[in-house]
Amino acid sequence: MREPAFNVLWLQSGGCGGCSMSLLCADTSDFRGQLRQAGINLLWHPSLSLETGQDVQQLMADCLSGKTVLHALCLEGSVLRGPEGTGRFHLLAGTQEPMMTWVQRLSAVAKHVLAIGSCAAFGGITAGGSNPTDACGLQYEGDQAGGLLGSNWRSAAGLPVINIAGCPTHPGWVIETLAALAQEQGLQAEQLDGLNRPRFYSDKLVHHGCTRNEYYEYKASAEAPGDLGCMMENRGCKGTQAHADCNVRLWNGEGSCIRGGYACISCTEPGFEEPGHRFDQTPKVAGIPIGLPTDMHKAWFVALASLSKSATPKRVKLNATSSHIVVAPVIKKTRLS
Ligand code: SF4
Ligand code: SF4
Repeated sequence: MREPAFNVLWLQSGGCGGCSMSLLCADTSDFRGQLRQAGINLLWHPSLSLETGQDVQQLMADCLSGKTVLHALCLEGSVLRGPEGTGRFHLLAGTQEPMMTWVQRLSAVAKHVLAIGSCAAFGGITAGGSNPTDACGLQYEGDQAGGLLGSNWRSAAGLPVINIAGCPTHPGWVIETLAALAQEQGLQAEQLDGLNRPRFYSDKLVHHGCTRNEYYEYKASAEAPGDLGCMMENRGCKGTQAHADCNVRLWNGEGSCIRGGYACISCTEPGFEEPGHRFDQTPKVAGIPIGLPTDMHKAWFVALASLSKSATPKRVKLNATSSHIVVAPVIKKTRLS
């Protein structure tokens, strides 16, 4: 097997560490082996590496001097710019220098820079509320381009910050992106979407592959927590607007928020952290949900919804407001039975 040659340095700043936890749930029995096989050398990760203190500082110095080629800098968590632009809310332990400064320096030499999770991409949860730490994303502040590095910043490879958004981000999205970058052909700008997320996962919607699609078709809606029906009408689900393949590429091999009974809160989108309403409620105007599918005209939605509601089979209607199947599909007579 060839020696891993694609050096990845992973830093953490203003986040909860959940994206690293998610990475550890990568669907593989040999995490290190999977990275090795993709040609990825994890230079250092705060939770997965043994090195600490002076060793890490030396490692970063080697990246800055060019002695070690830094192929990918991954930042998890948002950049803390406060107080008053000094970045001193987060000093990198042992260095007395803001993490913000280290990120700026290392971004200048890295071939690629990746924002791991919605905090690093857009500011995320850390930037919510009054944002006392002046948190921002690497190249975005909410949905506005800018952030720490500025909208015109490009890496040595010519790409913007690659935003692997999600809260947490899916381990498959991270590993697949790194593996693609480690290949000779790398990733091209057109393989990123309008928010610089890898299109292999962001060209899909959470709605795709949702096990509640039959309920959605008939607008047979869940009313209480635990109900089986579609959660769009009453329980805050934004799966029809959220760009991600969560229900096709499952989590831990078998789950997703929706399969666990929770509405999609659209965590891959900028600003998801402050929807202006409870995550488990759907805001409505005159009884019509305001968050309709992104590419559907409101009038069409209303017409289709009322038509499909009037055609809802009794089975679907009853099951939608139950915690388990109470009416099974009828067994249709075929020529074989
Ligand atoms: S994106 Fe979410 S899971 Fe990841 S560090 Fe931020 S708050 Fe934690
Ligand atoms: S629960 Fe959400 S993702 Fe699932 S079918 Fe309904 S709207 Fe779509």
